[in-house]
Amino acid sequence: MLFSEIVYGPIHSRRLGCSLGINLMPPDGKICTFNCVYCECGFNTEGHYKLPTRQQVAHAMEEKLKQLQHDGITPDVFTFSGNGEPTMHPEFEGIIDDTVMLRDRFFPMAKISVLSNSTRLGNEAVVRALMKADNRILKFDSAFNHTMRLIDQPVNDSFNVDDLMERLCSFKGDLIVQTIFLRGEHNGQIIDNTTEQEVNAWIEAVKIINPKQVMIYAIDRATPVKTLEKVSRDELETIADRLREFGYQVSVAG
Ligand code: SF4
Repeated sequence: MLFSEIVYGPIHSRRLGCSLGINLMPPDGKICTFNCVYCECGFNTEGHYKLPTRQQVAHAMEEKLKQLQHDGITPDVFTFSGNGEPTMHPEFEGIIDDTVMLRDRFFPMAKISVLSNSTRLGNEAVVRALMKADNRILKFDSAFNHTMRLIDQPVNDSFNVDDLMERLCSFKGDLIVQTIFLRGEHNGQIIDNTTEQEVNAWIEAVKIINPKQVMIYAIDRATPVKTLEKVSRDELETIADRLREFGYQVSVAG
């Protein structure tokens, strides 16, 4: 499933409420620094895709916000998501600046959230931009490199959990951790981040990262790997309860 517009919705998001989506990636292909087995946009595609410019994004957003205001619709959140990893956009920081300005003008109560896969946290401009958003919702799918690689399939082989942990800790708690739980098989390898060993290590890692909130969720739509199993809401709640025992705010989308 690809988003054909720069600004789409608002849609009702399981995790975010009435969400106005912003897609900084091309309308006709997915580009990401991960290639997750569960990605709703499918696997990365080769091609010479054009990203929207900062001006095009600002224009599309302004037009949409005028329309929403006219229609009496108030979004809860502006969400950067779409056909790939939003922080890959070379003008990401400027786009966040424009978004803050437009949000303040049209819907000052709305939050700005960025759903990111956490691979670009080594880039200072990306971190600066993320700090200008209200919510940085950063992916952390396993505390083990082997499992993270099976699930997220990072394009850069050097991406690893130790560096990721260090970068997530550098937010000093001012972040939301997002984790999908799933089971399945891909290319003859078993994928499962729901085992006792996985969940124990994940809980210990989350305690070190110490985020203000944790979002856990299950597969919702069609995935490029067809053998993946949707984890039940009860199982997610059991995992969430284990983390809640340590005082964390955990939301579940099953
Ligand atoms: S990080 Fe997000 S966009 Fe990228 S492959 Fe994974 S699910 Fe898809």
